[in-house]
Amino acid sequence: MKFETLCLHADDNKKDEWGTINTPVCQAATFVHKDVGVPSEYSYSRLSNPTRAHLENTISALEGGAAAFAFSSGMSAIATVMKLFTPPAHIIASDDLYGGTLRLFRGVNAAEGLSFDFVDTADVERVKSLINKDTKAIFCETPSNPMMQVSDIAALARVAKAHNLLLIVDNTFLTPYYQKPFAFGADIVVHSGTKYLGGHNDVLAGFAVARTEALAEKLAYLYKTFGACLAPFDCFLVERGIKTLPIRMDRLSANAAKIAEWLRARKDVKKVYYAGFSDHAGYVVSKRQATGFGGMISFEAESRALAENILRKVKVFQYAESLGGVESLITFPMLQTHADVPEKERLARGITDSFLRVSVGIENADDLIDDLEQAFKL
Ligand SMILES: *Cc1c(COP(=O)(O)O)cnc(C)c1O
Repeated sequence: MKFETLCLHADDNKKDEWGTINTPVCQAATFVHKDVGVPSEYSYSRLSNPTRAHLENTISALEGGAAAFAFSSGMSAIATVMKLFTPPAHIIASDDLYGGTLRLFRGVNAAEGLSFDFVDTADVERVKSLINKDTKAIFCETPSNPMMQVSDIAALARVAKAHNLLLIVDNTFLTPYYQKPFAFGADIVVHSGTKYLGGHNDVLAGFAVARTEALAEKLAYLYKTFGACLAPFDCFLVERGIKTLPIRMDRLSANAAKIAEWLRARKDVKKVYYAGFSDHAGYVVSKRQATGFGGMISFEAESRALAENILRKVKVFQYAESLGGVESLITFPMLQTHADVPEKERLARGITDSFLRVSVGIENADDLIDDLEQAFKL
């Protein structure tokens, strides 16, 4: 089956005895045993649940992995994956990561004894130069948040394989509809399912997907042990979102391309960060490893006053944290997603006091541009 069909029918054999078209919400904590020492297929919902199994099988099919695990948030997925590593393990990570992931690595994992180097993972030679005897993994987001840096997954996978490291890719921004990291040699894919997979700004979710059975087994152990599992109703919401993933992604990507061009043409915008520009440093790599550019754009307004003016005046765009939903959102990374990043480092990375990040939704592109046009007026 092709991707669009898999979004609806990847796991049709896991339906119920009534023949429902959708997957029913199995709101159950525990399941009756068949006989002494013979549990049913499901025994306890922290380990597995029919609604969740359906969602996990679908995600695994979409990514092309051996198994997927559905978590209560993207952060719980990433935090659980990091439990694969024990001190003195060393991890090389993108220097442009979701703020919560940076906080986890620096504030929690580092305190537990893991060590990190943060680099631009688009620079494969630099990544290579940082590998030492304790290095166990490379972790990247591509495109990255919020600077839209593009890392070459295949090149990183070659380095990882040569040094026996795991390559972990956060595929939240493009989703498997546009980018399948396993096809380029990644070992683990993580997601904030809260974003494009759920797609409607109404549920928190996360995923970890393993390429091999061996890794899946390790993750299954950690999953049942930490127990940050996705509740059945939330599984239903994400599954419903996935049914329309391809049409949402196509619409919002087309909208984003128009908005990025519109922003770039303005004199009061200093710089636009968008992976779909043909002069973007990662454009060639993007074309090779992804089939679309997604809906994320960052830009630097002329001044902080203009940035604040935009945030206050938008009407169709909404000033809110998060991304990936049908509704267009705009955020101020300095005060929101990247508030925990030290100022010097934040500024060095270009996240200034006039830097805004846009998540383009599925509204009419002209309405979105009209909205920005009026919001830009000081
Ligand atoms: C939002 C986000 C996360 C964290 O996911 P939550 O669902 O908010 O816990 C991780 N990575 C990326 C790229 C994100 O955008």
